Amino acid sequence: MAIDLLSPAFRAEFQFAAMAFAGGLALERLRPAHARQSWRALGFNLVVAVIFLYLTMLIVPPLAELFEPVAKRHSLAIPIRFPDGVAGSILQTIAFFVVFDFFFYWWHRAQHRFRWLWVQHKFHHQDRFVNVTTVHRYHFSEEAFRVFVIVVPMAVLFDFKPPTVAWIWTAFLLWGYWIHMNLKVGLGPLGRWLSGPQFHRYHHTPEYGNVNFAAIFPLWDRLFGTYHHPERGVFPQVTGVRDASDGNTLYEATLYPFVEWGRAIRRAFSRRRVAGAAVD
Ligand SMILES: [Zn+2]
Ligand SMILES: [Zn+2]
Repeated sequence: MAIDLLSPAFRAEFQFAAMAFAGGLALERLRPAHARQSWRALGFNLVVAVIFLYLTMLIVPPLAELFEPVAKRHSLAIPIRFPDGVAGSILQTIAFFVVFDFFFYWWHRAQHRFRWLWVQHKFHHQDRFVNVTTVHRYHFSEEAFRVFVIVVPMAVLFDFKPPTVAWIWTAFLLWGYWIHMNLKVGLGPLGRWLSGPQFHRYHHTPEYGNVNFAAIFPLWDRLFGTYHHPERGVFPQVTGVRDASDGNTLYEATLYPFVEWGRAIRRAFSRRRVAGAAVD
């Protein structure tokens, strides 16, 4: 099947990202949490955003389609219909995203816990200048994995229509832009219930690191003991990964996790061979 990389769907995705980046970067100038941002790092993130968006748009929809019949067969079919009146829509949205964030939380926590997942997620964390563009600074394979750990379980639980999927995806994207912004905004007590740029900045600082895994609702961090409430007026200045480079190479943006997985597989095979030889 020929894939038209300049089809309206691809173009719409890029336009959306470009607008969000332009708006986000303009807002960040008003009240930056971290004043000395690097133009070079920003340029790198923009290149990665193009790679990330192209590849995820190529990989994720067919993958999700492939598993849709399986999810449908086992679906509990809790109906989700947007819009459904104001109160209904608000309640459904909250319920849906609380569950969505539960899966996101555990997946994200596993990415920090297991080395073979960390090699994939590390690239996102190597950014020393977290800002709105960090939202697409992911290794593209993360999105493919998310199909299995978030999209499929959500499809098993809920019954939603394709327009709803687009709506959900857009809302989640917008939220990603918001929490990565280099913005000096504290949410005060509301921060215990909703995530924001300060909450997520703590996740990106090596000083704390393994805290604040939730994307939307800090509730999950509070329940499972990984919550760090942002101190009033404190916006960690150092982000990145301790004892690692800034990861700003195309190798790290594309091949790195595959090379690491290949090495891990080879190591496992050679260990088995050594164990086998010892038995002989
Ligand atoms: Zn993380
Ligand atoms: Zn992040």
